[in-house]
Amino acid sequence: MLINDLLDIKAKNTKLILNTLRFQPSLTKKEIADLSSLSFATVSNLSNELKAMDIFVDTKLEEKRVGRNPNSLALNQAQYLTVALDLQLENTLGFAIVNLQDTILHQESFDISSLNTPEEIVVFAKKVFDEFLLSYPVENTRFIGIGVAVPAVFDANDGNLVLSSVPIYENAPLKDLLSQAFSMPVYVDNIANICALSAYTKHQDAKNIVCMDISQGVGVGIIANGNLIRGKNGYATEVAHVPIGDPALQCRYCGCYGCVETELSLTGMTRYFPEIPNELPLLERWNLFVEKISESNEKTEHIIKRLGTLTGQLGTILINMFDPEAFYISGYISSIFDKLEPYFYKELEARCKMSLNRGLKIDTIWHELPSNEQVYKGLCDALYDLWYPLN
Ligand SMILES: [Zn+2]
Repeated sequence: MLINDLLDIKAKNTKLILNTLRFQPSLTKKEIADLSSLSFATVSNLSNELKAMDIFVDTKLEEKRVGRNPNSLALNQAQYLTVALDLQLENTLGFAIVNLQDTILHQESFDISSLNTPEEIVVFAKKVFDEFLLSYPVENTRFIGIGVAVPAVFDANDGNLVLSSVPIYENAPLKDLLSQAFSMPVYVDNIANICALSAYTKHQDAKNIVCMDISQGVGVGIIANGNLIRGKNGYATEVAHVPIGDPALQCRYCGCYGCVETELSLTGMTRYFPEIPNELPLLERWNLFVEKISESNEKTEHIIKRLGTLTGQLGTILINMFDPEAFYISGYISSIFDKLEPYFYKELEARCKMSLNRGLKIDTIWHELPSNEQVYKGLCDALYDLWYPLN
């Protein structure tokens, strides 16, 4: 028990030191101690261990400082990296290499419609990774892990993917396949959980966060009291089949009528404009939708009101259930969210006024970046969150 406690304290202190330095160019041990409220001795000892692993490197301070110049420490951004795979859209593989400061060093997107099984996709991804390694000029790179965004639930019981909105991944043992191919820690999750973890990594003062992601499907990731809610099987917090959608629409997954995802998903939203050709790839259909929704007319106003109200209704359910400090909206919907906002807030004003009055923070996150870059950075944050290098 005591040993576990000590290891736990060491892990927590190490993480605190890493968090303090993560987005800084460099800091002295004294500055890290002051900023993290840890003792100088603790910072010094753990920093030395991190230096021995090449996770921290010395950087010299500028000459102009007078007197004795203490060494400044920096995170070894060139050598410690993460691999990010975006498998959320059908027939597409997004691949990126991201350093621990969330800088994307390399990214590519591939049409994988010729690949027929998850095994073939993993072999292809490994080939792309090997080619990257040959071209990367830094030697002895270390990868803290590979993060994979999937449009599915990762079943914690058997490690397979379930409830996938892209059929090829249904029941696929993706984590095992990637572990064998890449020989590094693998983190597989849906984008809503990745988004919630990413927000938590950046704003650790907020311990209760709800993240609602609307992309290929609608997903929710929730941090409650500092922990990601996963549930017994890993299925939490699935909201796709909450029956607040159009009762005339049948859900293609569960067969019921009125599931919210039949409307709040890229396919569901593009359906409002039947003139958008169904045979186009989803992303192209979505881009056409964004163009059309920008036109000002009665039809677009009706669609905006419907989508704004629906996101507001789902938002109020989540806010009232989880009482978060921060509520984030992410995914492709962020690019049109400014239009939906008045109707979204109308629902919140009516149904969760108390949370609003108590300072609930509501924001769209990552909307300034192209969506796949959001995913890559979120995956890097999730891998970083799970990384305990000295334990
Ligand atoms: Zn359903």
